[in-house]
Amino acid sequence: MTDTDRHARQIRLPQIGEHGQRALAAARVAIVGVGANGSHLAETLGRAGVGFMRLIDRDVVELSNLQRQALFTTADVEASRPKAEAAARALAAIDPGLVIEPVVADLLADRAEALLGDVDLVLDGTDNFATRFLVNDFCVQRGIPWIYAGAVGVEGQTFTIVPGGPCLRCYVPEPPPAGSLPTCDTAGVLGSAINLVTALAATEAIRWIIDDGDARTATEARVRVLDAWAGTVHMMSLGRDPACPCCGSGEHPFLTSARAATAAELCGREAIQLPAPPGELASLDLGAIEARVTSLGETQRSAFLLRIDLPERRVLLFRDGRMIVGDTTDAAVARTVRAKLLGE
Ligand SMILES: [Zn+2]
Repeated sequence: MTDTDRHARQIRLPQIGEHGQRALAAARVAIVGVGANGSHLAETLGRAGVGFMRLIDRDVVELSNLQRQALFTTADVEASRPKAEAAARALAAIDPGLVIEPVVADLLADRAEALLGDVDLVLDGTDNFATRFLVNDFCVQRGIPWIYAGAVGVEGQTFTIVPGGPCLRCYVPEPPPAGSLPTCDTAGVLGSAINLVTALAATEAIRWIIDDGDARTATEARVRVLDAWAGTVHMMSLGRDPACPCCGSGEHPFLTSARAATAAELCGREAIQLPAPPGELASLDLGAIEARVTSLGETQRSAFLLRIDLPERRVLLFRDGRMIVGDTTDAAVARTVRAKLLGE
């Protein structure tokens, strides 16, 4: 078996060929959010042979994810494995030749350069507009293309933002107020709607990487709006808005407005997330912390995460300094637990 055998069926396509396959192997892609959309994008692009992928996600795999997310298994849930780490392991098993860089952290403005500045293409696997507006500001400012993809209920949307073309804020000028849109937690989501939207977005990514047709130069964006239940995909043409606050007037406020790092109740589960210290990505010595807390409860550690099962609750400590304290919705209780464990 040679590596050519691995991708033989797509090399045979006139749209890809040997030249396209080489471009895929040389491509560097970042996927922001490795949940439903991000895991499917990572699997499709990994199997297609995209040579480098940075997978950015702050969360761990949960049982309720498995209905729609690719790459993850029940064993990942049982091990409280971070999504970025679990996805990287699965992709390494699919194709050991891929270079996968898992990053278990939030994408924040002051980390955008480090996490997105050295890739050719950014893919949206997030579920929130705060991160999408940050990605849009960064990518438009730096001339890096990015692909928006979202799904909720039975519907999805995707469109590709290329340098010089319309951007996210030509389409959605301001972030929708928090709580104003349905989410997967409130409205549910059909797994096949994710499959559809990510199939379209991954194809757009492949077309951009191999420089197919007008994929890199389109001055109009093709916004695709799909309904998986009805089986319909509508294409909407979107032009640039000269008054766009981002690509029109060149302002990039989401790169400077630090998102408030506050304790947050996690949607859909009884837990509080305490933020990491702002600024550069921290790198805690989880082994040393495990040794200190081992008398308090059962522990389990990976490169990115220390899980501590205290008698009354489960605590997840990430290498970047974030902590998720389970079985409470009270931030004060969570801070007490953190102080007890870390001696702060
Ligand atoms: Zn714009």
